[in-house]
Amino acid sequence: MTGAATNTAVFDHPDFDDHEQVVFAADPASGLRAIIAIHDTTLGPALGGCRIWSYGSTNEAIADALRLSRSMTYRAALAGLPLGGGKAVAIIDSDRPKTPAMLRAMGQAIDRLGGRYITAEGAGSTVTDMDEVAKATPFVSGQSWGAGDPAPATARGVFLCMEAAVRHRLDRDLAGVHVAVKGLGSVGRALAGMLHEAGARITVADIDPARVARARQAFGAASVPVGAISAMEADVFAPCALGGDLNERSIAGLRAAIVCGSASNQLATPEDEIRLAEKGVLYCPDYLVNAGGLIHAARHTLDLPRGTTDAHIRNLPETLLTILAEAARTGATPGAVADRTARDRFRPREELRLLA
Ligand code: NAD
Repeated sequence: MTGAATNTAVFDHPDFDDHEQVVFAADPASGLRAIIAIHDTTLGPALGGCRIWSYGSTNEAIADALRLSRSMTYRAALAGLPLGGGKAVAIIDSDRPKTPAMLRAMGQAIDRLGGRYITAEGAGSTVTDMDEVAKATPFVSGQSWGAGDPAPATARGVFLCMEAAVRHRLDRDLAGVHVAVKGLGSVGRALAGMLHEAGARITVADIDPARVARARQAFGAASVPVGAISAMEADVFAPCALGGDLNERSIAGLRAAIVCGSASNQLATPEDEIRLAEKGVLYCPDYLVNAGGLIHAARHTLDLPRGTTDAHIRNLPETLLTILAEAARTGATPGAVADRTARDRFRPREELRLLA
């Protein structure tokens, strides 16, 4: 059912970045077609969510798996966790819908990796889905009897980092600050709730009108069409949908002073962070501010004492401020400083390794 990747397109991919292992898994009986990417296990087993999604092409799914898996390594390293980075994506469509049998087949594919990769819920997968995966493998976090939904912890980390970024850039607290939230899924909705409680003014957009209606009612949020949210005259833009929201076109129209949101891989290309810096926008590196859910899942996976999660999530704004200070001192972008700090932890430079 599984086979190692031999496609040179994978080796040449910009996000391949020396992945330790990429597995293509198929199960004709259930319709499973999945890619499990393990980027790096230097610091520990690769923990990363399972995205179940309808992709435009297999190449799109490969790119997503590689990019997400790589960012999980950086996220764990920067959060100071003894974990590596990996990600699973399952490709669904109308002929191959998500079913319990498909989820169990996913569990079998994960099980064959012997614990090098531990899955969890991700975009398009739920706690109930993880219960099904767990019937075939113990290498799961996020089942209903385990860690459960990581989204509230992710939202809390984003909220705390946004608070720190607003104080850093605008010298004020969140009361009265205008935040444009794109995406009202598990994280975006929880974040909007926290912002509402803190007295922020919220504008939202989502492709799902029911979610927009709920946010309008519950949080007094204003709403705009999806295409208009990144150009809102707001203090903060919070991308909480899928990746790639910060690209040449959207950055040209951006009017917020700060970008801080949960979405993974917000920058469409590395040049986009330079564009943000040139425009004077403070970009909070996505894999740093969205690490709360990983910290939550890690407590269960690593069996850490209860109560450590919140303390650990509270460190995220401190790490952000250290990175912003280093960026200001060196003239590097916050993303470049975050990358270097994380990389030094999981791939110590050769000279340091020789000294060790
Ligand atoms: P989700 O699937 O629950 O929600 C995504 C939301 O985005 C949905 O409401 C969907 O309708 C909306 N959406 C999709 N495309 C859109 C578009 N083009 N415009 C506007 N809205 C759109 O996912 P989630 O768990 O809330 O995660 C959101 C983002 O945060 C993802 O990028 C995910 O990778 C990242 N993230 C999530 C967690 C977590 O704990 N769930 C942790 C780290 C990072």
